[in-house]
Amino acid sequence: MSKVLIIGAGGVAGVVVQKCAGLPEVFSEIHLASRTLSKCQALQEKAGKDRVVGVYQVDADDSAEVAELIRGINPSLVINVALPYQDLPIMDACLETGVHYLDTANYEPKDEAKFEYSWQWAYQERFKEKGLMALLGAGFDPGVTNVFTAYAAKHYFDEVHYLDIVDCNGGDHGQAFATNFNPEINIREITQKGKYWENGEWHETAPISVRKDLDYPNVGVRPSYLLFHEELESLVKHFPTIKRARFWMTFGDQYLTHLRVLENVGMTSIQPVEFEGKKIVPLEFLKAVLPNPGSLAEGYTGKTCIGTYVTGMKDGQEKTIFIYNNTDHAETNKEVGAQAVSYTTGVPAMIGASLMLQGKWMEPGVWNMEQFDPDEFMERLNKYGLPWQVQECNKPFEK
Ligand code: NDP
Repeated sequence: MSKVLIIGAGGVAGVVVQKCAGLPEVFSEIHLASRTLSKCQALQEKAGKDRVVGVYQVDADDSAEVAELIRGINPSLVINVALPYQDLPIMDACLETGVHYLDTANYEPKDEAKFEYSWQWAYQERFKEKGLMALLGAGFDPGVTNVFTAYAAKHYFDEVHYLDIVDCNGGDHGQAFATNFNPEINIREITQKGKYWENGEWHETAPISVRKDLDYPNVGVRPSYLLFHEELESLVKHFPTIKRARFWMTFGDQYLTHLRVLENVGMTSIQPVEFEGKKIVPLEFLKAVLPNPGSLAEGYTGKTCIGTYVTGMKDGQEKTIFIYNNTDHAETNKEVGAQAVSYTTGVPAMIGASLMLQGKWMEPGVWNMEQFDPDEFMERLNKYGLPWQVQECNKPFEK
């Protein structure tokens, strides 16, 4: 029985709140704080005031403000589903107040589109010394894809050699252009250079320049592009036998055409520009005019398919498996009023939090998901709405 504080009240938070609310035996008391109080109140209304017992306005960029809020509530764990910019101030506040921490995306400085674990891994000793735990990247990718890799390594291979993580959204939200999670974070991620790991070093590619047409179970063939994604960094560190690790994401032509135009006219830039005597960041303005990802759920059709192809050695033979999940946008909307991308992120965050609070995944320090035993997490995916399949492949993922 534990009290949690959830920070953030967007698309992912909506799912985390509902899923935690459905498990009172683990999450005995839920508190919710975000930048905009009315969004917390709306989520509280949906989950019930008996489950979300307190809502608060907080600026999570300000660690002292978060620490004060935590002191007033005294939770066991903070679930951070605000934005990556807030990771460090919230981790600082957790250290100051002696509370465990979980997030779904790694830290990014606001003025530089660069995401890597170094900033958060640097908290390892401080969390250890205080007997506190931080679980990083507990969404789907990163998150479940890391656990899929750990599960494959534990049950299917003696040594893992090649990883190809694939993320397909085969759904249709009916909008000309929209992103499925926070538009600012999403566009910063995909307009960066691609990067993959091979033979002990990182290799860069021009943004969205390497394409493969991949066949996704229960979705079909979709154009998929090589991107850098944060779990590659932790997975190659924690599985040093990996020779190559890549990440692929699907984008439709319409999406890419819009993105190209927006880039060409400067709307995706994070450099401030002067507008009517005020400095504005074009990408932040663009976010303000794009659909809110949380609002896409109604009428969204089709499925996601996200998974990990793993090639490695077992009993002297090379083999390849694909572990994946399909999630249907209409079904998640029916269950919790959210589209599948929010759902596939929010459910693993709830599961990670439950394992921490029940002491099953509890170790002082700062950890990535693949560093814990995967079995119980995998069981809970099946139980709480993200069933997975293992496909034995008759050939490796193409070079
Ligand atoms: P949203 O933009 O829908 O929600 C973000 C929430 O954070 C909003 O409620 C926002 O408030 C709040 N927020 C922003 N800044 C602050 C601040 N300074 N103080 C307090 N609250 C703040 O994003 P999503 O729900 O789509 O994404 C949430 C997180 O999940 C992101 O970090 C994203 O990168 C991550 N994610 C991870 C995935 C994974 O698989 N691992 C996949 C998808 C997302 P306001 O409403 O006022 O703007």
